[in-house]
Amino acid sequence: MPTIMIKKLIEPIQMWLLARGQCVGCGRPLKNGVSEKREDGTFKVTCSCGRIFIYNPKNKKYRRALFDEI
Ligand SMILES: [Zn+2]
Repeated sequence: MPTIMIKKLIEPIQMWLLARGQCVGCGRPLKNGVSEKREDGTFKVTCSCGRIFIYNPKNKKYRRALFDEI
């Protein structure tokens, strides 16, 4: 299966997990991860599986960290 098709299948699942505050890799709740306050008021959250997310307390949303945020 081409990678683009796999991405199309996985993306909605990842969005759904993030909306529930769960890691997209292992499904663990991100509130159990290690969080670190950043200068802009958001939090860098490291899951126990090593994936890194950014939590925005203003809209209570998680997103995947970008490469330059890690
Ligand atoms: Zn994880």
